[in-house]
Amino acid sequence: MIYPKICLHCNDAGHNGMDLCERCFQKLPWVEYACGRCALPLPSSNAAACGACSNRELFFDHASTPFQFDGFIRDAIYQFKFNQKLNQGKLLAELLLRHIEDRQLEIPELIIPVPLHKKRMRQRGYNQALEIARIVSKELGKELGSELDYDAVYRNRDTSVQMELPAKQRHKNVKGAFSVKDNPIVLKNKQVCIIDDVMTTGNTVNEVAKCLRKAGVEKVGVWCLARVA
Ligand SMILES: [Zn+2]
Ligand SMILES: [Zn+2]
Repeated sequence: MIYPKICLHCNDAGHNGMDLCERCFQKLPWVEYACGRCALPLPSSNAAACGACSNRELFFDHASTPFQFDGFIRDAIYQFKFNQKLNQGKLLAELLLRHIEDRQLEIPELIIPVPLHKKRMRQRGYNQALEIARIVSKELGKELGSELDYDAVYRNRDTSVQMELPAKQRHKNVKGAFSVKDNPIVLKNKQVCIIDDVMTTGNTVNEVAKCLRKAGVEKVGVWCLARVA
């Protein structure tokens, strides 16, 4: 049974096989130029790494996102993350896949969603990053061989939502919050991509990347739905 595609934003007919009409698609807060290292939106493309990147230790090699955390994308992520609207998540994952294809981003061997703590997983019933990673890995797995690995990394303590904290507390909030399961042979020398919903300062994905490095991962990329500018 094929249902007609309907725009999740304005209820017009969908476009390009997605639940989003052409008008709303054009109005999305696309990131045109960004720092290749941390995905921070920039006014032009000539900076390889932004000022913020050169002042801190990053454990991932590159990061990319299609959108600024703004407008319809911000609303859709809230609906998806806090309001059980999984159809918004599906659309966001399809937009991320489109971005991966358009920008010809490097395809990893393993896709690792940022894990939720088990207590929060019980409360919410799903991990938004895992839902995105499932759709992305299924599509990229078909021809390009990417595999989903959702339990190599776990969150060893419950942390506050990064977006709700002042900038100064964000690093402390997630520091040491992730661990890799014992004997992760599967990670050694692998090319991995971490998936998250929103990248705020990058502290969360950096902590995940740090423990992947310790486990012998060779290259770490980051894909997220949106970046806080
Ligand atoms: Zn629309
Ligand atoms: Zn940067």
